Amino acid sequence: MSEQYDYDLIVIGAGSGGVRLARMSAQRGARVAVVESRYLGGTCVNVGCVPKKLFVYGSHMGEDFQDARGYGWTVPEDQLRFDWPTLVANKNTEIERLNGIYQRLLENAGVTIINGTAHIADEHRVMVGEQGYTAKHITVATGSWPVTPDVPGKECILSSNEMFYLPQLPRQAVVWGGGYIAVEFAGILAGLGVDTTLLYRGDLFLRGFDEDIRRFTASELPKKGVKLRFGVTIESVTETNGHYSVALSDGTTLDTGLVMAATGRRALVDGLGLEQLGVQLNPAGHVVVDQHFQTAVPSIFALGDVIGTPQLTPVALAQAMVLSRRLFGDGEGEMDYTCIPTAVFCQPNIGTVGLTEAEARESHGKLRIYRSEFKPMKHTMSGRDERSMMKLIVEDSTDRVLGAHMVGPDAGEIVQGLAVAMKCGATKAQFDSTLGIHPTSAEEFVTMREPVAP
Ligand code: FAD
Repeated sequence: MSEQYDYDLIVIGAGSGGVRLARMSAQRGARVAVVESRYLGGTCVNVGCVPKKLFVYGSHMGEDFQDARGYGWTVPEDQLRFDWPTLVANKNTEIERLNGIYQRLLENAGVTIINGTAHIADEHRVMVGEQGYTAKHITVATGSWPVTPDVPGKECILSSNEMFYLPQLPRQAVVWGGGYIAVEFAGILAGLGVDTTLLYRGDLFLRGFDEDIRRFTASELPKKGVKLRFGVTIESVTETNGHYSVALSDGTTLDTGLVMAATGRRALVDGLGLEQLGVQLNPAGHVVVDQHFQTAVPSIFALGDVIGTPQLTPVALAQAMVLSRRLFGDGEGEMDYTCIPTAVFCQPNIGTVGLTEAEARESHGKLRIYRSEFKPMKHTMSGRDERSMMKLIVEDSTDRVLGAHMVGPDAGEIVQGLAVAMKCGATKAQFDSTLGIHPTSAEEFVTMREPVAP
């Protein structure tokens, strides 16, 4: 390790990727500092995965009370109350607990935490305010930030960041966007009783997911009260006394109590001084790195959302482990982007791993498609009109399972296990020879016998 610098590594950003990189590297004996301007744990812990999932749990409970009636419970409608400030306060307490855990994880590993906004002054020097710190290696792990399109009234439109701290719930809400964050927030709001409309400019939301999954989800969400309007976008928003009039591209107007946009995220590189140093940004604004996370400046690395790879916490964590090993371990290891499982916590959930049918047709030729659609057992007695869907995409010549997709309760939990099997190269015959766990929805993945399409 190099004594000519204050540190062996300075990490900018204590989010998912930054904390993991700092901790793993310190545990390998490196002298590490991490600079954080806002909150320990980054987006995921503070305004992303964690609070979002807590809100999803909260919003689903109203439905659970209703479903309980079919099972003999008396749930008096007039005694059911939901208090939004309680949910937000309890969520905040949990997030503060996690912030503390992150701090202790770093401190116990011997990482120096520097609070403030970092600027890279030269290839080995990071400035935080007036104070300069030198390091052999610098890693940019500054994440991403929501982008709202430039429409008149943009200042009235909230992003996911503010949604986590809303002082009160509106009666009506408009959610603008077709990605997973928009879909999840629409589900949260509708589940909490807000009259919610989701607007998306394309003809079907959740671009990049399997077509069947997209269509099936579009048929399920309205049953939960989410009004879907595709092929339409916001032209302007006008506020009057806390109410909003939203003018749409089809000439209609929506009156609402809240407008949220989840219309994309950009790399957060503001003020870092990257381009002056020769670090390249691609046309989308992401930091350009090679397969070892090295930028055009050899001492500067970048990982996580800021480099434009799939914007998911486990991706940032895995990248951090690869980079730490390369810098302070045996120098080996590469990131493997195949078979990244992911979930959308809409209601019902989506879980997915591997190729979509369209991707598989393009890259693998002849396929066998297995699909099953059914009413989950729970709803045979709850009376709820909710259905689940599962789909397997199999390469005909090798029998390998290329994609597994599901819409239904706990889809994320179910698909995680399938991802392990697929990572091991599991074939359809191996799925078929696996015994089911009865009675579950998950067993359907090992009992789909007849292909629905070649
Ligand atoms: P971040 O976690 O964003 O961390 C970057 C850190 O850098 C921040 O703490 C920031 O304050 C700090 N920083 C920025 N600039 C500077 C500077 N100049 N100086 C000092 N510090 C700086 N992913 C999932 O896998 N599952 C999910 O369910 C999921 N849900 C999500 C829901 C929402 C609403 C959002 C917005 C994201 C969600 N994500 C989810 C994505 C996930 O949160 C990100 O992919 C992940 O946090 C990226 O980690 P990162 O380390 O790249 O950046």
